Amino acid sequence: MLDYQAPRDLLKDKVILVTGAGDGIGREAALNYAAHGATVILLGRTSSKLEAVYDQIEAAGHPLPAIVPVDLKGATAAHYRGMAETFAQQFGRLDGVLFNAGLLGTLSPFEHIQEQEWDEVMQVNVKSEFLLTQALLPLIRQTAKAHGDASIVYTSSSVGRKGRAYWGTYAISKFAIEGMMEVLADELENTAVRVNTLNPGGTRTKMRASAFPAEDPQLLKTPADLMPLYLYLMGADSRGKTGQTFVAQPKAAQPK
Ligand code: NDP
Repeated sequence: MLDYQAPRDLLKDKVILVTGAGDGIGREAALNYAAHGATVILLGRTSSKLEAVYDQIEAAGHPLPAIVPVDLKGATAAHYRGMAETFAQQFGRLDGVLFNAGLLGTLSPFEHIQEQEWDEVMQVNVKSEFLLTQALLPLIRQTAKAHGDASIVYTSSSVGRKGRAYWGTYAISKFAIEGMMEVLADELENTAVRVNTLNPGGTRTKMRASAFPAEDPQLLKTPADLMPLYLYLMGADSRGKTGQTFVAQPKAAQPK
C-alpha cells in the first residue's frame, strides 16, 4: 500500500478533518491532504502547532485550512455537536475524517495502571472519537449521498489486535477502536460511507520515542513514508473498502 501513487487532484474540493493535526503523523497527513486539493480542518490542542501547519499550507498555495483548537480530554458531546453545526454551515460537507490524535499514557504492569490515567487515555483515544463520530455522522452521510463517497479512518496500532505486556490502557483503547470501526462499518454497509482503521506501525514521532527511548529513530519510517496509504484511504480509489484494518508496515518490514 505504500507504493500507491495518488493523483495530484485526488482530494480536490473535498473537506477533510484531521485530529491531532499539529504534530507527528497527523501533521504530515494534513499537509498531504491539502497538497492533494482538500480543504483541511486542523483539530488539535496546541494552537501554535496548528498555526504553523496552517502557515505551511498557505505558503504552498494549497486550499486554505481551518483551525479548531480543542483538548479532546475535556471536550463534551455538546462541544462536538456545536462543531458539527459549524462545519455544516461553513463548508456544507465533510468528505473524510482522520481520527489520529492519541495518547500513549504510561507503560506499566497491569496492576499498576492508575484509574485517572485509564480515564484520560480512554477519554482521548476512545470516548472523544465515539462522541465526535456521532456528532459528525449526519453531515458525513449527507456528503456521501451528494458526492458519491465519504471516508472515516480511525488510527489503530499493532497492540490493538494483539495485546502486549505493559501496554495497558493504550492497547485496550486501540482494541476498542477496532471494535468501534467494525460496528460502524457494519451499520453503514449499505451506504457510501466507508469506515476503516489504519495501523501506521513504528513511525518516527514523539510518541514512538517516548515508548521506545533506546531505539534509533533513523531505523524507523517517517510519517511522510506512510502517506500513500493515508491518501489511498481518504480518496475515491478506496471506494468499497470498508470494515478493514490497513497495516502500513507489515511485520517483516518493521525493525525488531
Ligand atoms: P504524536 O504524539 O507525535 O502526535 C499526537 C497528536 O495528537 C499531537 O498532535 C497531539 O497534540 C494530539 N493530541 C494528543 N492528545 C490530545 C488531546 N487531548 N486533544 C487534542 N489533541 C491531542 O503521535 P503520533 O503521530 O506518533 O501518533 C498518531 C497516531 O498514530 C496515534 O493515534 C497513535 O496512537 C498512532 N500510532 C503511532 C505509532 C508510532 O509509531 N508513532 C504506531 C502505532 C500507532 P499536541 O501536539 O498538542 O500534543
